[in-house]
Amino acid sequence: MSQKTLRLIGYWAGPSEPEVWPDARDFLSPAMPAEDRDAVVTYLHSGTVYLAFAGYSVCRVCGILNGTTELTDGEHFVWPSGLTHYVKAHDLRLPDEVLAVARRGPAHPVDPFAIERAMLETRELTVDEHWWRSRTGSRGSGPERHP
Ligand SMILES: [Zn+2]
Repeated sequence: MSQKTLRLIGYWAGPSEPEVWPDARDFLSPAMPAEDRDAVVTYLHSGTVYLAFAGYSVCRVCGILNGTTELTDGEHFVWPSGLTHYVKAHDLRLPDEVLAVARRGPAHPVDPFAIERAMLETRELTVDEHWWRSRTGSRGSGPERHP
């Protein structure tokens, strides 16, 4: 395995970490075309679980308990399992870079132990959080908002 960087996606600002992550509500419109949404849901479902958390994440839109694991395709992205709920239930629109990968089809299964080893031991795999933190959803385009 050569040196690779995976982009972390799908973490949202919440009561405990208000400023760190993007606000999910900025990603709720414009909605994705149905075929893109289906491709994204299929892609997110096809990731390999490689990490489990101690507690549940809570949906930032409707408040349900939403997922305790993190998935990856081993190639492009790392995401929490609850991200699928945002796309399915709230029509959340992910950035075009994610759409482009999802349109290529489901992720191939990867060996979760190899992923863990590459991240923690050999450091051949790094996870980039900065890209996701700088996403702004629809807030980033269109007329500027003033407080
Ligand atoms: Zn929800």
